[in-house]
Amino acid sequence: MRRERVSDDIYVFTSDLYAQVTATAVITAEGIVTIDTLPFPEETRAMVAFLKGLGRGPIRYLINTHWHGDHTNGNFLFGNVQLICHQLCAQTMVDMINLKASRARDKRPSEEEELPVRVPDITFDEGEMCLHLGGKSLQLIPSPGHTPDSIVVYIREDKVLLAADTMMPLPYFVGGSYRDFLNSLKGLLQLNIDTIVQGHGEVLLRGEVKEAIQSNIRYLTIIQQRLAEMIKAGQSLEEALRRLDIESCGKSRISLNGMVQDLHYANLRALYQEMTQSNDRSAVPDRQLHQRV
Ligand SMILES: [Zn+2]
Repeated sequence: MRRERVSDDIYVFTSDLYAQVTATAVITAEGIVTIDTLPFPEETRAMVAFLKGLGRGPIRYLINTHWHGDHTNGNFLFGNVQLICHQLCAQTMVDMINLKASRARDKRPSEEEELPVRVPDITFDEGEMCLHLGGKSLQLIPSPGHTPDSIVVYIREDKVLLAADTMMPLPYFVGGSYRDFLNSLKGLLQLNIDTIVQGHGEVLLRGEVKEAIQSNIRYLTIIQQRLAEMIKAGQSLEEALRRLDIESCGKSRISLNGMVQDLHYANLRALYQEMTQSNDRSAVPDRQLHQRV
């Protein structure tokens, strides 16, 4: 686990064990707020031990940015700290517990499935939530796209955005929504941001912030345009995958130790499917129109 300080009161912890996942701690005059956990218990335990050792008060709240295990597996290591997330996040966690329980009847659970799941205590659904604690204002802003329940956390006093998976070296919307992702990224451009802590990968500093958001918007726009051209020209998904490598869509193939390539191809598959399905749907009114004539 790597630890860095992005302002006097904000520490970022980055996993060495899986996909450079980040978790963050905000130190306030009335205790500590942690945003997300690390994927493996040993790293989350080390993070919690470090924060307790600071002598800056107890951990008061833990915020989950979305339900994925790489960001929430460590929830159970925070004792009776109050846990906050979007209503959809808590709901999905409960659904996953039920799903796992029904699967467990058929097969031996994997190691991840054996971790105890801790579901959040406090949730919000309509609009934003602002947590005021010890001189800090943490704005919890819904940002669907990576998943429907995704939020970002903006710390007003420090102009630091904890973007979770709404900002990664490559936007990944499989299991979420392409269109929502684009809107959420455009929304980030409205915030006054000095630093972005991405859900995976390096912290982005002042000079890099706008360009990084715009680069992700460009990527999403490019893959949609290219796929639209190819679908119009009657090209198959296989042809599209062959022709649209990650670099031709404006992104590097080396980020997150090369994992971004898999994410890119999964994005293309999902979007191609979505676009061809909606083409089918748009053909329906056409046929109906002809029938009427
Ligand atoms: Zn993630």
